[in-house]
Amino acid sequence: MADNSEDSGEPPKARRVVCDTSVLLAGGDPRSSTDDEVYITPGVLAEIHHDDDRERIETLRSTGLRVREATVDPLRAVEDAAQSTGEDKRLSQADKELLALALELQAELLTDDRSMQNLAAVLKIPYKGYAQSEIKGLWHWQSNWRCIGCGRTYDAEVPKNECRVCGHEVRKKHWRVPKGEAPGKRKPRGI
Ligand SMILES: [Zn+2]
Repeated sequence: MADNSEDSGEPPKARRVVCDTSVLLAGGDPRSSTDDEVYITPGVLAEIHHDDDRERIETLRSTGLRVREATVDPLRAVEDAAQSTGEDKRLSQADKELLALALELQAELLTDDRSMQNLAAVLKIPYKGYAQSEIKGLWHWQSNWRCIGCGRTYDAEVPKNECRVCGHEVRKKHWRVPKGEAPGKRKPRGI
C-alpha cells in the first residue's frame, strides 16, 4: 500500500547499463549523465589479469562503476536460453552473468559480442553495440608517470621507476579524455 515512489513526482529515470568488459577496457563509458548507473559483475573482475586493465577498472570504480553479482533465477533463465539457442559454448560464465544481471536490473546491455547480443534479443534485454554505436561520452585513456617526490612528470616509464631528478618513486597515472579532444591537452603539473 505504501508506495514511496509516489510523493515527489520522480526525477527522470537514470539509465541502467550493464557493460561488457571489453567495452570498458577500450575506453567506453556509457554514462551520459552522472545519474546513470553502470554495472559489471564480480566474475568480470576475476577475468581481468593485466595490471593496466585492473587499474583502469579501479579508476572507473572510483568514478561510480558498480559491481554486482547476478542472482540465481536470472542466471538460470540465461542458461536455459543459451542452451536452446546453441550459444552455450560461445559464452563464458562471465558473459552469462552479465546477461543475467542485465535481465535482473532491466538494464541495457552494452556489448559487441554477437552471441551476447543474440541472447539478449532472445531474453528481450535491450542491447547496444559499442564500436558501431553513437553512444555519448566515449573516452580514451592517457597515462603518464609522475614522481611522488618532486612531482615531475614523464611521458614514458623510467628505469626502476626512479625519478631522474630527485630519486623518489615514479608512479603511473591513468586518466580518461573525451574522444575527439586532442591528446596531451591536460597540462602536466610539476616542472
Ligand atoms: Zn622527483
